[in-house]
Amino acid sequence: MAVPKRKQSKSRSRSRCTHDVEKVKSITQCQNCSSPLNTHQVCHTCGFYKGVKVMATKADRSVKRGQALQVKQARANGAQQEQVAPAS
Ligand SMILES: [Zn+2]
Repeated sequence: MAVPKRKQSKSRSRSRCTHDVEKVKSITQCQNCSSPLNTHQVCHTCGFYKGVKVMATKADRSVKRGQALQVKQARANGAQQEQVAPAS
C-alpha cells in the first residue's frame, strides 16, 4: 500500500477545505405574490416567473379537477333527467 512520505501541513489541509464551505444563496421576492424565492426560479406558490404564468400549481390542478368533476356530474344528471322525461 502506498504511504504518504510526509504529514500534510495544517495550512495545506485548511486551504483545501476553504472550498467546502456552504455558500449563502440570495433570496428574492416573487413579483406576483411576494413569497420568498431563490433567484432565477419559478415561484412554486403561484407558478409565475418574471410576471408570466409558466407552471400549473397544486391549487390550479385541484380547481381544474373540481370543474371536471362538476361537468361529469352535470352530464350524469342530464342523462338521468332525459331518461325520466320520455316516460312522463
Ligand atoms: Zn409567486
